[in-house]
Amino acid sequence: MAFKETIEFIRSKFPKGDFIPLHVPVFQGNERKYVMDTLDSTFVSSVGSYVDLAEKMMEDITRTNKAVAVVNGTSGLQIALQLAGVKSGEEVITQALTFVATANAIHYSGAEPIFLDVDDDTMGLSPKAVVRFLEKFAEKKKKGVIHKKTGKRIAACVPMHTCGFPVHMDELVAVCNEWNIPIVEDAAESLGSYYKGRHTGSFGKLGVFSFNGNKIVTSGGGGMIVTQEEDLGKFGKHLTTTAKVPHPYEYVHDHIGYNYRMPNINAALVCAQIEQLNFFVENKRQLASDYQNFFPSQGIKFRTELEGTRINYWLMCIELENLAQRNKFLKETNDSKTMTRPIWQLMYRLPMYRHCFRDEQKNAEYLEERIVNIPSSVRI
Ligand SMILES: *Cc1c(COP(=O)(O)O)cnc(C)c1O
Repeated sequence: MAFKETIEFIRSKFPKGDFIPLHVPVFQGNERKYVMDTLDSTFVSSVGSYVDLAEKMMEDITRTNKAVAVVNGTSGLQIALQLAGVKSGEEVITQALTFVATANAIHYSGAEPIFLDVDDDTMGLSPKAVVRFLEKFAEKKKKGVIHKKTGKRIAACVPMHTCGFPVHMDELVAVCNEWNIPIVEDAAESLGSYYKGRHTGSFGKLGVFSFNGNKIVTSGGGGMIVTQEEDLGKFGKHLTTTAKVPHPYEYVHDHIGYNYRMPNINAALVCAQIEQLNFFVENKRQLASDYQNFFPSQGIKFRTELEGTRINYWLMCIELENLAQRNKFLKETNDSKTMTRPIWQLMYRLPMYRHCFRDEQKNAEYLEERIVNIPSSVRI
Protein backbone atom coordinates (compact mmCIF):
# COMPACT_ATOMS: atom_id res chain seq x y z
CA MET A 1 0.00 0.00 0.00
CA ALA A 2 1.51 3.26 -1.16
CA PHE A 3 -0.37 5.35 1.40
CA LYS A 4 0.07 3.12 4.45
CA GLU A 5 1.89 5.72 6.54
CA THR A 6 -0.59 8.44 5.59
CA ILE A 7 -3.56 6.29 6.54
CA GLU A 8 -1.94 5.41 9.86
CA PHE A 9 -1.33 9.09 10.56
CA ILE A 10 -4.91 10.11 9.80
CA ARG A 11 -6.23 7.26 11.93
CA SER A 12 -3.96 8.25 14.83
CA LYS A 13 -5.76 11.61 14.90
CA PHE A 14 -9.11 9.84 15.44
CA PRO A 15 -8.34 7.05 17.90
CA LYS A 16 -12.01 6.44 18.76
CA GLY A 17 -13.91 4.04 16.56
CA ASP A 18 -13.13 1.76 13.66
CA PHE A 19 -14.64 3.74 10.78
CA ILE A 20 -13.44 7.33 10.43
CA PRO A 21 -16.00 9.57 8.77
CA LEU A 22 -15.27 12.75 6.80
CA HIS A 23 -17.21 15.10 9.05
CA VAL A 24 -19.62 14.43 11.90
CA PRO A 25 -21.39 16.91 14.17
CA VAL A 26 -20.53 17.25 17.85
CA PHE A 27 -23.30 17.94 20.38
CA GLN A 28 -21.73 18.74 23.71
CA GLY A 29 -23.10 22.18 24.54
CA ASN A 30 -26.65 23.39 25.16
CA GLU A 31 -28.19 21.33 22.34
CA ARG A 32 -30.29 19.07 24.57
CA LYS A 33 -31.36 21.92 26.82
CA TYR A 34 -32.54 24.17 23.99
CA VAL A 35 -34.26 21.41 22.00
CA MET A 36 -36.04 20.17 25.15
CA ASP A 37 -37.08 23.73 25.79
CA THR A 38 -38.97 23.78 22.45
CA LEU A 39 -40.67 20.49 23.31
CA ASP A 40 -41.62 21.65 26.82
CA SER A 41 -43.03 24.91 25.48
CA THR A 42 -44.70 23.12 22.50
CA PHE A 43 -43.22 25.81 20.22
CA VAL A 44 -41.40 23.46 17.88
CA SER A 45 -42.55 24.87 14.58
CA SER A 46 -43.34 28.25 13.12
CA VAL A 47 -43.54 30.24 16.33
CA GLY A 48 -40.81 30.49 18.92
CA SER A 49 -37.89 32.56 20.07
CA TYR A 50 -34.98 30.41 18.86
CA VAL A 51 -35.51 31.47 15.24
CA ASP A 52 -35.10 35.11 16.26
CA LEU A 53 -32.10 34.22 18.41
CA ALA A 54 -30.39 32.27 15.60
CA GLU A 55 -30.91 35.22 13.25
CA LYS A 56 -29.47 37.62 15.82
CA MET A 57 -26.43 35.39 16.36
CA MET A 58 -25.75 35.26 12.63
CA GLU A 59 -26.13 39.03 12.29
CA ASP A 60 -23.54 39.44 15.06
CA ILE A 61 -21.06 36.93 13.62
CA THR A 62 -21.25 38.22 10.05
CA ARG A 63 -21.80 41.86 11.05
CA THR A 64 -24.76 42.18 8.74
CA ASN A 65 -28.00 44.04 9.34
CA LYS A 66 -30.54 41.30 8.66
CA ALA A 67 -30.41 37.52 8.79
CA VAL A 68 -33.27 35.27 7.68
CA ALA A 69 -33.42 31.66 8.88
CA VAL A 70 -34.60 29.20 6.23
CA VAL A 71 -35.20 25.45 5.85
CA ASN A 72 -31.91 24.78 4.09
CA GLY A 73 -29.07 26.47 2.24
CA THR A 74 -30.42 25.60 -1.19
CA SER A 75 -33.76 27.34 -0.59
CA GLY A 76 -31.82 30.25 0.92
CA LEU A 77 -29.87 30.60 -2.31
CA GLN A 78 -33.05 30.45 -4.36
CA ILE A 79 -34.64 33.27 -2.34
CA ALA A 80 -31.41 35.32 -2.28
CA LEU A 81 -31.25 35.17 -6.07
CA GLN A 82 -34.85 36.32 -6.31
CA LEU A 83 -34.11 39.15 -3.86
CA ALA A 84 -31.07 40.13 -5.97
CA GLY A 85 -33.45 40.59 -8.90
CA VAL A 86 -32.84 37.42 -10.88
CA LYS A 87 -35.79 36.55 -13.09
CA SER A 88 -36.82 33.75 -15.37
CA GLY A 89 -34.91 33.68 -18.67
CA GLU A 90 -31.83 35.42 -17.30
CA GLU A 91 -28.31 34.20 -16.62
CA VAL A 92 -26.15 33.99 -13.49
CA ILE A 93 -22.37 33.72 -13.34
CA THR A 94 -20.97 31.03 -11.05
CA GLN A 95 -18.19 28.46 -10.85
CA ALA A 96 -18.29 24.91 -12.25
CA LEU A 97 -16.29 23.61 -9.29
CA THR A 98 -19.05 23.60 -6.70
CA PHE A 99 -21.62 21.43 -4.99
CA VAL A 100 -24.64 20.88 -7.25
CA ALA A 101 -26.95 22.96 -5.02
CA THR A 102 -25.38 26.20 -6.30
CA ALA A 103 -26.37 25.44 -9.89
CA ASN A 104 -29.73 23.97 -8.86
CA ALA A 105 -30.70 27.11 -6.96
CA ILE A 106 -29.87 29.20 -10.03
CA HIS A 107 -32.11 26.91 -12.06
CA TYR A 108 -34.97 27.18 -9.53
CA SER A 109 -34.84 30.94 -9.90
CA GLY A 110 -35.59 30.43 -13.60
CA ALA A 111 -32.10 31.43 -14.72
CA GLU A 112 -29.27 29.53 -16.39
CA PRO A 113 -25.78 29.27 -14.92
CA ILE A 114 -22.72 30.57 -16.78
CA PHE A 115 -19.76 28.53 -15.54
CA LEU A 116 -16.47 30.43 -15.20
CA ASP A 117 -13.12 29.16 -13.99
CA VAL A 118 -11.89 29.21 -10.40
CA ASP A 119 -8.53 30.45 -9.09
CA ASP A 120 -5.97 27.79 -8.38
CA ASP A 121 -5.17 29.17 -4.92
CA THR A 122 -8.70 29.78 -3.55
CA MET A 123 -10.53 27.06 -5.55
CA GLY A 124 -13.35 29.62 -5.81
CA LEU A 125 -14.65 31.85 -8.59
CA SER A 126 -11.79 33.71 -10.30
CA PRO A 127 -12.26 37.49 -10.56
CA LYS A 128 -9.86 37.42 -13.52
CA ALA A 129 -12.06 34.89 -15.30
CA VAL A 130 -15.08 37.14 -14.64
CA VAL A 131 -13.23 40.16 -16.10
CA ARG A 132 -12.15 38.14 -19.15
CA PHE A 133 -15.66 36.85 -19.74
CA LEU A 134 -17.40 40.20 -19.34
CA GLU A 135 -14.91 42.06 -21.55
CA LYS A 136 -15.27 39.50 -24.31
CA PHE A 137 -18.90 38.45 -24.13
CA ALA A 138 -20.90 41.15 -22.35
CA GLU A 139 -22.16 44.64 -23.11
CA LYS A 140 -23.82 47.25 -20.98
CA LYS A 141 -27.32 48.05 -22.19
CA LYS A 142 -30.20 50.04 -20.74
CA LYS A 143 -31.84 46.95 -19.23
CA GLY A 144 -28.56 45.73 -17.73
CA VAL A 145 -25.52 43.69 -18.70
CA ILE A 146 -26.31 41.55 -21.72
CA HIS A 147 -24.57 38.32 -22.70
CA LYS A 148 -23.88 38.95 -26.41
CA LYS A 149 -24.02 35.24 -27.32
CA THR A 150 -27.50 34.65 -25.92
CA GLY A 151 -28.99 38.14 -25.71
CA LYS A 152 -29.93 37.40 -22.09
CA ARG A 153 -29.37 39.63 -19.09
CA ILE A 154 -26.60 38.62 -16.69
CA ALA A 155 -28.49 39.19 -13.47
CA ALA A 156 -26.13 38.10 -10.68
CA CYS A 157 -22.80 36.56 -9.78
CA VAL A 158 -22.55 33.67 -7.29
CA PRO A 159 -19.05 32.98 -5.93
CA MET A 160 -18.73 29.93 -3.67
CA HIS A 161 -16.15 29.78 -0.86
CA THR A 162 -14.94 26.25 -1.51
CA CYS A 163 -14.42 24.19 1.66
CA GLY A 164 -14.21 27.44 3.64
CA PHE A 165 -11.46 29.09 1.53
CA PRO A 166 -12.61 32.64 0.72
CA VAL A 167 -12.75 33.81 -2.88
CA HIS A 168 -10.56 36.87 -3.72
CA MET A 169 -13.44 39.17 -2.75
CA ASP A 170 -11.75 42.58 -3.23
CA GLU A 171 -11.14 41.85 -6.90
CA LEU A 172 -14.54 40.22 -7.41
CA VAL A 173 -16.41 43.08 -5.76
CA ALA A 174 -14.46 45.54 -7.92
CA VAL A 175 -15.39 43.89 -11.22
CA CYS A 176 -19.02 43.29 -10.22
CA ASN A 177 -19.38 46.92 -9.07
CA GLU A 178 -17.92 48.12 -12.34
CA TRP A 179 -20.53 46.14 -14.29
CA ASN A 180 -23.25 46.70 -11.71
CA ILE A 181 -23.89 42.97 -11.24
CA PRO A 182 -25.12 42.00 -7.74
CA ILE A 183 -23.16 39.35 -5.84
CA VAL A 184 -24.89 36.53 -3.95
CA GLU A 185 -22.26 34.64 -1.96
CA ASP A 186 -22.71 30.93 -1.57
CA ALA A 187 -21.15 30.84 1.89
CA ALA A 188 -22.70 27.44 2.70
CA GLU A 189 -19.29 25.99 3.60
CA SER A 190 -17.61 29.05 5.09
CA LEU A 191 -19.21 29.88 8.43
CA GLY A 192 -16.23 30.93 10.55
CA SER A 193 -14.09 31.99 7.54
CA TYR A 194 -12.84 35.55 7.17
CA TYR A 195 -11.36 37.54 4.31
CA LYS A 196 -9.31 40.56 5.38
CA GLY A 197 -11.05 40.56 8.74
CA ARG A 198 -14.57 40.47 7.35
CA HIS A 199 -16.78 37.42 7.51
CA THR A 200 -17.58 35.60 4.26
CA GLY A 201 -21.16 36.14 3.15
CA SER A 202 -21.07 39.82 4.16
CA PHE A 203 -19.47 41.18 0.98
CA GLY A 204 -22.25 40.57 -1.50
CA LYS A 205 -25.72 42.05 -1.75
CA LEU A 206 -26.70 38.80 -0.01
CA GLY A 207 -24.91 35.79 1.42
CA VAL A 208 -26.22 32.32 2.23
CA PHE A 209 -25.11 29.75 4.82
CA SER A 210 -26.08 26.11 5.29
CA PHE A 211 -26.62 24.25 8.56
CA ASN A 212 -26.93 20.82 6.98
CA GLY A 213 -25.73 17.88 9.07
CA ASN A 214 -22.29 17.80 7.41
CA LYS A 215 -21.52 21.52 7.76
CA ILE A 216 -19.43 23.13 10.51
CA VAL A 217 -22.54 23.75 12.64
CA THR A 218 -25.87 22.07 12.09
CA SER A 219 -29.56 22.61 12.76
CA GLY A 220 -30.34 19.12 11.43
CA GLY A 221 -31.30 20.90 8.24
CA GLY A 222 -31.38 24.63 7.75
CA GLY A 223 -29.80 27.72 6.32
CA MET A 224 -29.46 31.47 6.74
CA ILE A 225 -29.62 34.40 4.35
CA VAL A 226 -27.69 37.50 5.44
CA THR A 227 -27.64 41.00 3.98
CA GLN A 228 -26.54 44.52 4.83
CA GLU A 229 -29.79 45.83 3.34
CA GLU A 230 -32.25 45.61 6.20
CA ASP A 231 -35.37 46.24 4.11
CA LEU A 232 -34.36 43.64 1.56
CA GLY A 233 -33.78 41.17 4.40
CA LYS A 234 -37.18 41.94 5.87
CA PHE A 235 -38.77 41.33 2.49
CA GLY A 236 -36.85 38.03 2.37
CA LYS A 237 -38.36 37.10 5.72
CA HIS A 238 -41.80 37.96 4.34
CA LEU A 239 -41.29 35.82 1.21
CA THR A 240 -40.00 32.81 3.16
CA THR A 241 -42.97 32.89 5.55
CA THR A 242 -45.79 32.59 2.96
CA ALA A 243 -45.88 36.39 2.48
CA LYS A 244 -48.55 36.63 5.15
CA VAL A 245 -49.70 40.11 6.01
CA PRO A 246 -50.33 40.58 9.75
CA HIS A 247 -54.05 40.51 10.54
CA PRO A 248 -55.94 39.55 13.73
CA TYR A 249 -57.70 36.62 12.02
CA GLU A 250 -57.85 36.82 8.21
CA TYR A 251 -55.45 34.97 5.90
CA VAL A 252 -53.98 37.77 3.81
CA HIS A 253 -51.00 37.15 1.50
CA ASP A 254 -49.60 39.77 -0.84
CA HIS A 255 -46.97 37.82 -2.83
CA ILE A 256 -46.39 34.27 -4.00
CA GLY A 257 -44.50 33.35 -0.87
CA TYR A 258 -42.73 30.20 0.22
CA ASN A 259 -42.92 27.99 3.27
CA TYR A 260 -39.17 28.12 3.78
CA ARG A 261 -39.09 29.18 7.42
CA MET A 262 -36.72 27.31 9.70
CA PRO A 263 -38.72 25.45 12.38
CA ASN A 264 -38.05 26.54 15.96
CA ILE A 265 -36.82 23.07 16.96
CA ASN A 266 -34.07 23.28 14.33
CA ALA A 267 -33.26 26.84 15.36
CA ALA A 268 -32.85 25.68 18.97
CA LEU A 269 -30.28 23.13 17.85
CA VAL A 270 -28.31 25.59 15.76
CA CYS A 271 -28.26 28.26 18.49
CA ALA A 272 -26.46 25.78 20.75
CA GLN A 273 -24.13 24.89 17.88
CA ILE A 274 -23.30 28.48 16.98
CA GLU A 275 -22.37 29.10 20.64
CA GLN A 276 -19.54 26.60 20.04
CA LEU A 277 -18.42 27.88 16.65
CA ASN A 278 -15.16 29.37 17.94
CA PHE A 279 -14.33 26.16 19.76
CA PHE A 280 -15.07 24.10 16.63
CA VAL A 281 -12.89 26.32 14.45
CA GLU A 282 -9.97 26.31 16.92
CA ASN A 283 -10.25 22.54 17.29
CA LYS A 284 -10.18 22.07 13.51
CA ARG A 285 -7.30 24.50 13.10
CA GLN A 286 -5.22 22.32 15.44
CA LEU A 287 -5.97 19.28 13.30
CA ALA A 288 -5.12 21.30 10.17
CA SER A 289 -1.81 22.25 11.70
CA ASP A 290 -1.03 18.59 12.45
CA TYR A 291 -1.90 17.65 8.86
CA GLN A 292 0.16 20.54 7.54
CA ASN A 293 3.18 19.31 9.48
CA PHE A 294 2.73 15.76 8.24
CA PHE A 295 1.66 15.73 4.58
CA PRO A 296 4.75 17.32 2.99
CA SER A 297 6.81 14.41 4.35
CA GLN A 298 4.69 12.18 2.10
CA GLY A 299 5.11 14.41 -0.94
CA ILE A 300 1.45 15.48 -0.69
CA LYS A 301 0.36 19.10 -0.58
CA PHE A 302 -1.99 20.11 2.25
CA ARG A 303 -4.03 23.20 1.37
CA THR A 304 -3.63 25.98 3.95
CA GLU A 305 -5.25 29.37 4.28
CA LEU A 306 -3.95 32.23 2.12
CA GLU A 307 -2.50 35.45 3.47
CA GLY A 308 -5.17 37.87 4.63
CA THR A 309 -7.67 35.10 5.33
CA ARG A 310 -8.60 33.09 8.38
CA ILE A 311 -10.48 29.95 7.49
CA ASN A 312 -12.73 27.45 9.23
CA TYR A 313 -11.03 24.33 7.79
CA TRP A 314 -14.48 22.87 7.28
CA LEU A 315 -13.41 20.02 4.99
CA MET A 316 -9.65 19.81 4.76
CA CYS A 317 -8.10 19.46 1.33
CA ILE A 318 -5.02 17.69 0.07
CA GLU A 319 -3.70 17.82 -3.46
CA LEU A 320 -2.45 14.62 -5.10
CA GLU A 321 -0.02 14.61 -8.01
CA ASN A 322 -2.42 13.47 -10.69
CA LEU A 323 -5.65 11.58 -11.33
CA ALA A 324 -4.06 8.13 -11.02
CA GLN A 325 -2.55 8.99 -7.62
CA ARG A 326 -5.84 10.51 -6.53
CA ASN A 327 -7.76 7.36 -7.44
CA LYS A 328 -5.22 5.16 -5.69
CA PHE A 329 -5.47 7.34 -2.58
CA LEU A 330 -9.29 7.26 -2.61
CA LYS A 331 -9.33 3.48 -2.96
CA GLU A 332 -6.73 2.73 -0.29
CA THR A 333 -8.18 5.10 2.30
CA ASN A 334 -11.78 4.03 1.81
CA ASP A 335 -10.75 0.35 1.82
CA SER A 336 -9.11 1.08 5.19
CA LYS A 337 -12.33 2.50 6.69
CA THR A 338 -10.87 5.99 6.50
CA MET A 339 -13.38 8.11 4.65
CA THR A 340 -12.10 10.41 1.93
CA ARG A 341 -13.91 12.00 -0.99
CA PRO A 342 -12.84 13.66 -4.21
CA ILE A 343 -13.85 17.26 -4.83
CA TRP A 344 -17.04 17.47 -6.95
CA GLN A 345 -17.28 16.73 -10.62
CA LEU A 346 -17.51 19.98 -12.55
CA MET A 347 -21.10 21.06 -13.09
CA TYR A 348 -20.92 20.86 -16.90
CA ARG A 349 -20.21 17.13 -16.65
CA LEU A 350 -23.72 16.62 -15.22
CA PRO A 351 -26.40 15.93 -17.84
CA MET A 352 -28.68 18.81 -16.83
CA TYR A 353 -25.91 21.44 -17.03
CA ARG A 354 -23.95 20.09 -20.00
CA HIS A 355 -25.40 22.68 -22.40
CA CYS A 356 -24.54 25.72 -20.27
CA PHE A 357 -22.06 28.36 -21.37
CA ARG A 358 -18.58 27.97 -19.90
CA ASP A 359 -15.08 29.32 -20.38
CA GLU A 360 -11.85 27.38 -20.52
CA GLN A 361 -11.69 25.62 -17.14
CA LYS A 362 -7.97 25.20 -16.73
CA ASN A 363 -7.84 25.52 -12.95
CA ALA A 364 -11.14 23.78 -12.24
CA GLU A 365 -10.10 20.76 -14.31
CA TYR A 366 -6.69 20.66 -12.62
CA LEU A 367 -8.31 20.71 -9.16
CA GLU A 368 -11.04 18.24 -10.11
CA GLU A 369 -8.35 15.63 -10.81
CA ARG A 370 -6.32 16.24 -7.65
CA ILE A 371 -8.21 17.60 -4.65
CA VAL A 372 -9.37 15.13 -2.00
CA ASN A 373 -11.15 15.85 1.29
CA ILE A 374 -9.82 14.00 4.31
CA PRO A 375 -11.35 13.40 7.77
CA SER A 376 -11.95 16.83 9.29
CA SER A 377 -14.31 16.38 12.26
CA VAL A 378 -14.03 18.26 15.52
CA ARG A 379 -12.28 15.99 18.03
CA ILE A 380 -13.40 15.85 21.66
C1 LIG B 1 -24.22 22.40 1.52
C2 LIG B 1 -24.15 23.32 0.37
C3 LIG B 1 -25.30 23.96 -0.14
C4 LIG B 1 -26.68 23.61 0.23
O1 LIG B 1 -27.01 23.59 1.52
P1 LIG B 1 -28.23 22.68 2.05
O2 LIG B 1 -28.48 23.24 3.39
O3 LIG B 1 -27.73 21.27 2.06
O4 LIG B 1 -29.38 22.87 1.12
C5 LIG B 1 -25.14 24.89 -1.14
N1 LIG B 1 -23.95 25.17 -1.65
C6 LIG B 1 -22.83 24.57 -1.22
C7 LIG B 1 -21.54 24.93 -1.84
C8 LIG B 1 -22.90 23.62 -0.21
O5 LIG B 1 -21.78 23.00 0.19
